[in-house]
Amino acid sequence: MNIGCHLSIAKGYRAMGDQALALGANTFQFFTRSPRGGKSKAADPADLAALRALLAERRFAPLVAHAPYTLNPCAKDEGLRDFALRVMREDLALLAQLPGNFYNFHPGCHVGQGVETGVAWIAALLNQVLPAAEGCGVLLETMSGKGSEIGGRFEELREIISRVEGNGALGVCLDTCHVYSAGYDLVNDLDGVLTEFDRVIGLQRLKAVHLNDSLTPFASRKDRHAKIGEGSLGLDAISRILFHPALRDLPFVLETPNELDGYREEIRLLRGLAPA
Ligand code: FE
Ligand code: FE
Ligand code: ZN
Repeated sequence: MNIGCHLSIAKGYRAMGDQALALGANTFQFFTRSPRGGKSKAADPADLAALRALLAERRFAPLVAHAPYTLNPCAKDEGLRDFALRVMREDLALLAQLPGNFYNFHPGCHVGQGVETGVAWIAALLNQVLPAAEGCGVLLETMSGKGSEIGGRFEELREIISRVEGNGALGVCLDTCHVYSAGYDLVNDLDGVLTEFDRVIGLQRLKAVHLNDSLTPFASRKDRHAKIGEGSLGLDAISRILFHPALRDLPFVLETPNELDGYREEIRLLRGLAPA
């Protein structure tokens, strides 16, 4: 089982790796910079090398670096789109120093321009940044579809991917809270949802899972994460997700409302589960 949680980069790269091990994790996620999209601290090459050594020595599953969630690659304003482009280029240059891991981003909000225009902007941005993704997969996150968010339907992600040239490095990160909120019934029809994912996008594109329970009901189109077993998905459904043959080898990252102690408990709970 490859499981970990979201960690803060405040103490550096190697510190996150040590922290993950102390929590019982063998993967983790981090924001490449403040979620608000501010400047990234120049990464210390020795710190990155120390993390690389730890990842290899302790056989970590791939990590997930998360782009600032305030980026909007399909903003109406050209300045905002340029900002997203610049941040993603910088982030991918950094991740070239952590090869074999993933860079995950939210497709963005079309803010009234319509899905078609939004999809076109996102694909245009990916066509510009993807050549910089050396040795790192770039993942589109499945979203709940709240407001004008793109990525609430698998078809929208397929459309983006299909418009990117040389899209071999593109993949998808499935967020269980988002997908359930978007109206894909992971609780009563997990096989059906994965069959649909395979038909529309292709399961070979699925590279990571954000494992979250949801505070809001099925198909609510909200984005409110809950602790594992304390939301509308529930522990049984989460257990079936963890052990599903199509998913079980992927990195699972918790983004539940927890401090470190809570994450340690959730990781222990999940590692203690057995396939039904
Ligand atoms: Fe996210
Ligand atoms: Fe997520
Ligand atoms: Zn979310």
